[in-house]
Amino acid sequence: MQDNSIKSTCSYCGVGCGLLIKKDSKNKVSVEGDPDHPVNKGMLCSKGRNLHYVVNDTSDRLLYPQMRWSKSHPNLDRVDWDTALERAAHVFKSIIKQHGPDSVGFYVSGQCLTEEYYIANKLVKGFLGTNNIDTNSRLCMSSAVVGYKKTFGEDSVPIAYADIELADCFLITGANPAYCHPILFRRIEAHKEKNPDVKTIAVDPRRTDTAAYADLHLQLLPGTDIILYNAIGRRLLEQGLVDKDFIDNHTEGFAQYRAQVMQLSLKEAAKQCGVPVADIKKAADIIGISKGFISMWAMGLNQSVVGTNKNFALLNLSLITGQVGKPGSGPFSLTGQPNAMGGREVGGMANLLAVHKDLMNENHRREVAHFWGVNEISGKPGYTATQMFEALETGRLKAVWIICTNPSVSLPDVRKVDKALQNAKFVVVQDISKRSDTLQYADLILPAAGWLEKEGTMTNSERRISHLPKVVEAPGEARPDVEILCDFAQKMGFRGFDYYNTSEIYQEYAAMTKGTNIDISYLNYDRLKNEGTFQWPVNTYRHTGTPRLFEDKKFYTPSKKAVFNIPSTLYNRSIKPDAEYPFVLTTGRVRDQWHTMTKTGKVSRLKTHYPTPVLEIHPVDAVKLKIREGTICEVASENGNVRVKAKLTDTIRQGVVFLPMHWGKKLASDLNRTNNLTQNMVDPQSKEPDFKFTAVRVEKY
Ligand code: SF4
Repeated sequence: MQDNSIKSTCSYCGVGCGLLIKKDSKNKVSVEGDPDHPVNKGMLCSKGRNLHYVVNDTSDRLLYPQMRWSKSHPNLDRVDWDTALERAAHVFKSIIKQHGPDSVGFYVSGQCLTEEYYIANKLVKGFLGTNNIDTNSRLCMSSAVVGYKKTFGEDSVPIAYADIELADCFLITGANPAYCHPILFRRIEAHKEKNPDVKTIAVDPRRTDTAAYADLHLQLLPGTDIILYNAIGRRLLEQGLVDKDFIDNHTEGFAQYRAQVMQLSLKEAAKQCGVPVADIKKAADIIGISKGFISMWAMGLNQSVVGTNKNFALLNLSLITGQVGKPGSGPFSLTGQPNAMGGREVGGMANLLAVHKDLMNENHRREVAHFWGVNEISGKPGYTATQMFEALETGRLKAVWIICTNPSVSLPDVRKVDKALQNAKFVVVQDISKRSDTLQYADLILPAAGWLEKEGTMTNSERRISHLPKVVEAPGEARPDVEILCDFAQKMGFRGFDYYNTSEIYQEYAAMTKGTNIDISYLNYDRLKNEGTFQWPVNTYRHTGTPRLFEDKKFYTPSKKAVFNIPSTLYNRSIKPDAEYPFVLTTGRVRDQWHTMTKTGKVSRLKTHYPTPVLEIHPVDAVKLKIREGTICEVASENGNVRVKAKLTDTIRQGVVFLPMHWGKKLASDLNRTNNLTQNMVDPQSKEPDFKFTAVRVEKY
């Protein structure tokens, strides 16, 4: 198959598996894992293996632009592209003229290709004159971003997947890679099979498949992560299982760290976390004697009102053990989306500028403005994801352009999101699929080209950039997102958007990276096509990429030292359960579904594993509530309610219930939307919402 097959990258999770695509005479594609790809070595998970169905079945695709001429007009009319984008430009100009540039915003996605993300940011921050552009990566990685920036001086994942095979201890916390990053997990399993002394420790309130596989499962009470990591830190210090040389010569802030971890005895910490003291000691001892210690985490840490504090506490364990910048060691955030990292590189958040530059830094704003040939970039931070929808609800934001994401299912407190979208003066939804719930609020629907229907690049969780070629034509009149955005920019009268192809866009961005920590100025489409994937930085001619950062122990902070950041609190700040709402709801993904199921939901074989949303509840709790397997339950929070069948399982702690996040109104019903329940509470630093701790009531319906 390899001879005439085309190399690409999976469009789902941040693992970034390499694929070989073949196309038949009828333009139908087939998909195989690329045996030569450094990430997956030919393996694919269930989602990746079934990607061809998503491309070949175009029955759900949006095929032409549609427009509602006024709010009183009930129907969307088919229009041509010129009419659609001229109207969009007319409405945006008129709203900006009347209410100023901060009255419009863009909400984009970690599935956008880097070139699309770059153009959207250039358009909004450089030319529309507002920083109101944020991404659904805000819901995913922004707490980890703050953790990396404050610890290492830059949003930089220090590690490579190749370190997995060099490690002998994995602390997997707030993540279920067996379901959500399966190929990465397969690599850990294979490594452990060959090296039985390798240990995995899982930290999770649920006994997930990852936790069941682990040598040690710390089934902590939700929200007690900081206390647990500090207790592990205390034990490491007390046992002398720390790297004194690294602490003394390459870090700052250790004294404050030591003072904080000594605040709680192990006994007290164990009581507060709900895990035995012996298990905390065991975890610390495994970590402390390991030669290569990798911590892996995902949404269990990030999606919390104390998400950045959780990140700090975990990152500090890598610092006291000196397990950074050496083979088989380092902290490793697991990205949920295929290009969340590429998006951050080009400034895809309301508080960032391209090339990881800082919006609040006047010099950085001046440099970026100069590069784009505009007078200035506003210093006012834009609305973050949840702020954008709050602003729509209150009328401060009048128009929103939503690209490749489905906020009507995925944001917290979705009924408020619905109201916000109803209240907006103008909503543009640019998407590939009719299955998006958000379409019902659109005044303008723009059909976009999907995966394999356009060209561009992505960056996976280990900083690996890959090139994705166009393989098939998009159906109907669907167009690549960059073309749509560039056409819109030109209709707005902006210069600097007349690119010949996406390679030119990439080159413009790559030139901007020159001399920075994420320098890819020596990486171009030709090298990506001919030589394969590269991990940034790639900063000299013939440079082959950088698998591991900080091998010289020089960090990107002003002092060149890594920083112990001290959590501002040990305790969770989510609203606690009480007599009315006695359970803690935690939400997450299931193995074969992805996001709001606009793609995975159309593949019938992916529905068999977890066909409908169910409430996971411990049998002891269920008995008290007279709930049996399959009983329809009403779950209610202060915000709303959900009605689903119960699934009794002792894999979850008593007092905790779990709901999957994928199902929306279109696929099920309003009463299956898990985010009816979640609260719009965010971490004060990262502005990432808390999806992991909502006080709820459960009743038999
Ligand atoms: Fe795709 Fe992630 Fe599965 Fe790899 S692990 S095939 S990137 S979904």
